[in-house]
Amino acid sequence: MDKTPVLIVGGGPVGLALACELGWRGIACTLIEQSDGAIATPKMNEVNVRTMEFCRRWGIADDVHRCPFPPDYPLDVAFVTSLSGYEIGRMPRPPRMSEQPEPHSPMRLQVCSQMWFDPILQRFARTFPQVHLQYRTRLESFATSENGVSTEVVDLESGHRRHIEANYLVGCDGANSVVRRSLGIGLGGKTLGYPVHLYFRVPNLLEICGRNPTTFFVTVDRGGVWSNVRVIDPVNAIWRLMVLDAGSILDPERVDRKTYLHRAVGRPLEIEWLGTSVWTRRSVVSEQYAKGRVFLAGDAVHQLSPTGALGMNTGIGDAVDLGWKLAAVLAGWGGTDLLSSYEIERRPIGLRNVGMAAEFYRNHQKADDDLAFIEDGSTRGAEVRRRIGEALVRDVGRMFRTIGLQIGYRYENSPICIPDRTPAYPDDPEVFVPSARPGSRAPHVWLGEGHSILDLYGRGFVLLRLGADAPDGSRLEEAAAQRRVPLKTITITDCEAMQLYEKRLVLVRPDGHVAWRGDASPQEAAAVIDTVRGAVPSGLSGAGQHHVC
Ligand SMILES: Cc1cc2nc3c(=O)[nH]c(=O)nc-3n(C[C@H](O)[C@H](O)[C@H](O)COP(=O)(O)OP(=O)(O)OC[C@H]3O[C@@H](n4cnc5c(N)ncnc54)[C@H](O)[C@@H]3O)c2cc1C
Repeated sequence: MDKTPVLIVGGGPVGLALACELGWRGIACTLIEQSDGAIATPKMNEVNVRTMEFCRRWGIADDVHRCPFPPDYPLDVAFVTSLSGYEIGRMPRPPRMSEQPEPHSPMRLQVCSQMWFDPILQRFARTFPQVHLQYRTRLESFATSENGVSTEVVDLESGHRRHIEANYLVGCDGANSVVRRSLGIGLGGKTLGYPVHLYFRVPNLLEICGRNPTTFFVTVDRGGVWSNVRVIDPVNAIWRLMVLDAGSILDPERVDRKTYLHRAVGRPLEIEWLGTSVWTRRSVVSEQYAKGRVFLAGDAVHQLSPTGALGMNTGIGDAVDLGWKLAAVLAGWGGTDLLSSYEIERRPIGLRNVGMAAEFYRNHQKADDDLAFIEDGSTRGAEVRRRIGEALVRDVGRMFRTIGLQIGYRYENSPICIPDRTPAYPDDPEVFVPSARPGSRAPHVWLGEGHSILDLYGRGFVLLRLGADAPDGSRLEEAAAQRRVPLKTITITDCEAMQLYEKRLVLVRPDGHVAWRGDASPQEAAAVIDTVRGAVPSGLSGAGQHHVC
């Protein structure tokens, strides 16, 4: 019988990210994946700013930068009546390697298809000798007890069945999660539609249609906004046409590919078909993220409309939050309530992101009586195109202006963050307000050429002393040392950091979120450390009843 501290079920991007996070923290784990890991029809293309910050911490950001998507290819979004028809709006987006940095992060959003991104995570996970990736292996069943989880898995090549004993099981097994269903946990929300994906290869599509390089086309015709066309791999001329809603669940064999392609491209075209998939657009969140020693992450707990590119990115946020907590508990310094903070912190973010993605999708559906004239060559047609184009850039375009969504999420009411009674700032999807208010992602500041303050965070807790005369942090250091909590004190004298972080002592968690801040060394340093390591029962802290400074 095999034994592992953490058994991860599912080797999609979220399971792989959890294996990377645990491996990076020195924790042993086993990941089982029923497929062979090859990606036939990639879904995800946009690795957002927060995920890129995690990649930077893991040391794999340059692998993403070097992915085969050409670094100088414009990421523009164009609104067109068809690829050969009228262009009625455009949102310029700089290429991946634009010199223009994000103002609030050391990283930029990267376009990197899942067919390249998943292998980057696989390779990184494999660099850790204590991380075992087992492909063509399926979870069959599991039973939980107070001390661990006993699972039965099958090797799909040989048919051989065996047991794996784990301290913790994490279901990263996607939308139809067998782990979630076995626990009897339901999903709340609704179905939004039945899209169809058509993958094809065609050299010189843009030249044929008379267009400049553009990554994403939204097509709108007399029937309204009905599809989008995205370049997946410009070098190998691979494209994806997504029909937003084909009306009902179809057999992929019966999809009328030619008619859809003709309508999107606006002319007959000889192409090589690479694949067709029919799926369900859902807007759902799991009722629970955990039960006992079993946890769920990624699409297993939230399924979003891809509008806004939040699905995988939200799941990787789950993996990072759960990863440091599992590592802390397995290392012995995490408190008994640390793991229960996972659901309290991450489920509200799941609800937030699922809700925004649905709103972005609904922006596609606004009816307009003048659509009948959108392809009309008359003056009226031109006026209709101008007006509708502006509306599309304003409304549908919101799903590309999401910096607040990407890095502005914060853990309100977390039992392991200690509120400082400062007011919450608005959670605006388009606007990011940097803040070191407890629960927030600690803000980025450049500390020198190529060196972000975020580079200081990750391995353990970091106590920032802001200003050369900042209060002494020794009480917190001693309390942490007594409990074997890894904590490093760093003095920062950078003016921008002192302004942004506002207080003179700021305690940052291993995932880069602020746990506590104050202007004086806390009298009850032990209570602060016990709260942030989850050793104070929920309800005593975080909800504002327990003040330790
Ligand atoms: C068109 C489209 C575009 C998208 N674009 C983006 C984007 O740009 N950015 C973004 O962040 N997100 C995007 N998404 C969403 C993103 O693809 C998903 O959120 C992400 O793939 C979920 O990852 P996951 O690891 O949770 O689940 P999955 O990728 O579904 O992986 C689950 C894995 O579990 C395995 N598994 C299941 N059951 C078992 C079992 N019993 N035993 C062993 N293995 C098992 C499966 O084989 C599978 O490999 C997009 C989605 C779509 C549909």
